[in-house]
Amino acid sequence: MERLHAFLLLGLCLLKSLLAPLLGARRGLGDFERSYAPDRLPPLTPHERRALPTLSGCIACGLCDLGEGLRAGRSSGVYDGPMDLMLASSRSMPDFDAAARSFAAVSDERLAELELRCPARVPMREVAAFVRAKSAELPSPSRRRMG
Ligand code: SF4
Repeated sequence: MERLHAFLLLGLCLLKSLLAPLLGARRGLGDFERSYAPDRLPPLTPHERRALPTLSGCIACGLCDLGEGLRAGRSSGVYDGPMDLMLASSRSMPDFDAAARSFAAVSDERLAELELRCPARVPMREVAAFVRAKSAELPSPSRRRMG
């Protein structure tokens, strides 16, 4: 019975979303922004949507962290090496303003060098550019939705 109920519900939702454009009830970008801006989730551009799967290929091998200890030490805790940037900091868009500060500790020239030793071919400069771009679109943390 529960399964039947689930199928009916899914069917109803499918029908509703298929008919929405015909009935003028389709929710658009404006609705998305109104719904998700308080959660600090800006919409992706079509280019960003296509690029996203290529940005998350880090396999945590740690090779890019080699030789980055001095830079990390000088960063007063802002930068913990490129692996952290590729594997963690660049995964949560609401926190991209903090991630952008971490990326500022390492230049694109250095990221280009590190890309050459990455076995997963993570496009580190593209990840950095994505984080910077989305960070610039974030509302201030004071507007963050609570609860
Ligand atoms: S070298 Fe590449 S795969 Fe290895 S930790 Fe760095 S980004 Fe990840």
